[in-house]
Amino acid sequence: YDAELNSARERKVAIENDIREGLLRDEFDVWYQPIVDARSQEMVGVEALVRWPRRPAGALPPDAFITIAETSGLIHALGQFVLRRACRDLQPLSDLKLSVNISPAQFRDPDFENKVADVLRDSHFPAHRLQLEITETYVLENPERSLSAIGNLKALGTAIALDDFGTGYSSIGYLRRFNFDTIKIDKSLAGLVDHDEQAAALVGGTIRIASALGMTVVAEGIENEKQMKLLSLAGCDRLQGFFFSAPMPIDALRQHRQRRQG
Ligand code: C2E
Ligand code: CA
Ligand code: CA
Repeated sequence: YDAELNSARERKVAIENDIREGLLRDEFDVWYQPIVDARSQEMVGVEALVRWPRRPAGALPPDAFITIAETSGLIHALGQFVLRRACRDLQPLSDLKLSVNISPAQFRDPDFENKVADVLRDSHFPAHRLQLEITETYVLENPERSLSAIGNLKALGTAIALDDFGTGYSSIGYLRRFNFDTIKIDKSLAGLVDHDEQAAALVGGTIRIASALGMTVVAEGIENEKQMKLLSLAGCDRLQGFFFSAPMPIDALRQHRQRRQG
C-alpha cells in the first residue's frame, strides 16, 4: 500500500514538473468542439478544451492533469494560456461564441476578473462572445465569492455557464440566485435519455425550469441521433457532442466552418 501511495505521489510530482516545463516549451494546444443550435443545427459556438500533445513522456488527457494543475497552483498559468490562446484563435471567427472552462482555483483568485479583462483587451475579443464555464461544486461551496465573481464578470459583459449540471446534488431552484446565463446538462444524463424513461423525464423537467428562469440550456455528450432528437424535443437550446463533431484544432475548425457555410 505504501509503495503504491508513494508511486502515486511521485507520479503526481512528476506530472507537476512536466506541466511547468510544458508551459515553457509550448507543449499545450487548445482544441475546439462545436456547439450547435438545436433547431437549425448550425454551429453557433465552440468549447475550448486543452490538449497536451507534445509532452515528451507521452500525451495525457485533461482529466489526468487538470486536477494536478489545480492542487499545485499551475492552473493559473495554464488557464490563462488557454484563455489567451482561445480568444486569439476565435477572435476572427466573429459569428461564433467561445466557452472556456474555468477551474475552481482560478475562480477563487481575487484577481481573476482583472485577468479576464486583460485578455479581452489584449486580444480585442468582444466580452459578449465569451462564456466561462464553472462547476456546481465550487459555486455551492463558495457562494459568497461565487456571487461576487459572477457579478463582476457579468459587468464585463461575459456570460457564465454552469457546467456538468446533474452530476452534483443541487436543485435548479437553488442555483437561481447565481443568475447563470446557461446550464450545461452533463453527458451522464444525456447518455441516459435514449433508454431510461425516468432519466428522460428528469432531464425534461430540468430543461423546462431552466428555460422558465431565462437560462439557455445546452445538452452535452450527444452521441447519436436518438439522443439528439429527444433532447431537442425536450427543449434544449443548444447541443454538443461527438454526434455533431469531436473537438478539433483551430485549422480544422476553420475548414469545418467553411464547409458548412459552403
Ligand atoms: P467538460 O468541460 O465536461 O468537457 C467536455 C468533455 O467531454 C471533453 O473531454 C470532450 O472531449 C468530451 N466530449 C465531447 N463530446 C462528447 C461525447 O459525445 N461523448 C463523450 N463521451 N465525451 C464527449 P476532454 O477534452 O477530455 O476534457 C475533460 C474535462 O477536462 C473537461 O470536461 C473539463 O472539465 C476539463 N478541461 C478540459 N480543458 C480544460 C481547460 O482548458 N481548463 C479547465 N479548467 N478544465 C479543462
Ligand atoms: Ca465544460
Ligand atoms: Ca461538462
